[in-house]
Amino acid sequence: MAEQKRDYYEVLGIDKNADDAAIKKAYRQLAKKYHPDMNPGDQEAEKKFKEASEAYAVLSDPDKRRQYDQFGHAAFEGGAGGGFGGFDFTGADMGDIFGDIFGDLFGGGRSRRANNGPMQGANLRAQIRVTFEEAVFGCDKEIELTLKDECGKCNGTGAKPGTSPITCTKCGGKGQVVYTQQSLFGMVQNVRTCPDCNGTGKVIKEKCPDCYGTGYISSKKKIAVTVPAGIDNGQSIRIRGKGEPGVNGGPRGDLLVEVLVSRHPIFQRQDTNIYSTAPINFVTAALGGTVRIKTVDGEVEYDVKAGTQTDTRVRLKGKGVPSLRNKNVRGDHYVTLVVQVPTDLSKDAKEALRAYDDAVNGIAPSGKGGKAKKRFMDKVKEALDE
Ligand SMILES: [Zn+2]
Ligand SMILES: [Zn+2]
Repeated sequence: MAEQKRDYYEVLGIDKNADDAAIKKAYRQLAKKYHPDMNPGDQEAEKKFKEASEAYAVLSDPDKRRQYDQFGHAAFEGGAGGGFGGFDFTGADMGDIFGDIFGDLFGGGRSRRANNGPMQGANLRAQIRVTFEEAVFGCDKEIELTLKDECGKCNGTGAKPGTSPITCTKCGGKGQVVYTQQSLFGMVQNVRTCPDCNGTGKVIKEKCPDCYGTGYISSKKKIAVTVPAGIDNGQSIRIRGKGEPGVNGGPRGDLLVEVLVSRHPIFQRQDTNIYSTAPINFVTAALGGTVRIKTVDGEVEYDVKAGTQTDTRVRLKGKGVPSLRNKNVRGDHYVTLVVQVPTDLSKDAKEALRAYDDAVNGIAPSGKGGKAKKRFMDKVKEALDE
């Protein structure tokens, strides 16, 4: 404390008339340069960082800036300045400043919040269920959901008509309260949403009777959803402007509709290909012939080659799922042909099969054992006779 404190404007290298954006920009540049994380062990950098943070804490707050402009550093000495004299800070609050001040510096993962500029409303999420075929060919659906709209009575201000919200005194209308506090890393800024106005910068004295001061009216809305051909289970459709209303004149958020595709009793899907199995008669498998196979386009005829083995996979070109990008480009349908062995043969059919067997394997004696066993025994007998 023995040192003479530098002027806050001088610390940030800005003009006395600098606006909020210029203050923030100047601070960001200094914070980036002197942040302890970027300058490990550098005491001089740490000192500069603290100095800049303190300057920013004061100048970014309209009330404190006014006091500072009037009284200089004396405004915050001796605890008379409304509790700003002490710096208490916990490391857990670091995230706030990184989000708010260092947003783009560290990748901008956080959305901007608690400022008075126009902000897009939050996105809403919903789900719809469609059948397998609806996903393949696309369909039009309608979903009902509760959407918030600006209250017509108060035009979204939340104030009783004839009155208007007043500027929040705690944050001076900024919607944010800035604390400068001591942490392991030194002096750090902590920006919080103003608790008095919840970040709106305005306080409503007399609430609108229709929306109870919220500025919004919720109502059930039917929303048309065009499901594009080729959509797959778990994919989402974005419907622009059907999310939460924007703040301060910002655009509405979007509605993200996740599509859940019901399972099909026969068809399975992988990307744009469809897979199924189809039973074929064992005579057709042996002799060849035409079978009818179910596809998403209805039944199609397929010529089975003579001598087709069970589990043979055949391709029905272009009978799969349309590509989401171009619905004229379709995948294929792969069918696994499963040869059916009859279990319920008539007497005539059995005789026909025995005749077939005889034709293939030679005359078998009627009776027990069957031909394979008989032939084996013949071989044994021949071997013994020699
Ligand atoms: Zn209202
Ligand atoms: Zn406030």
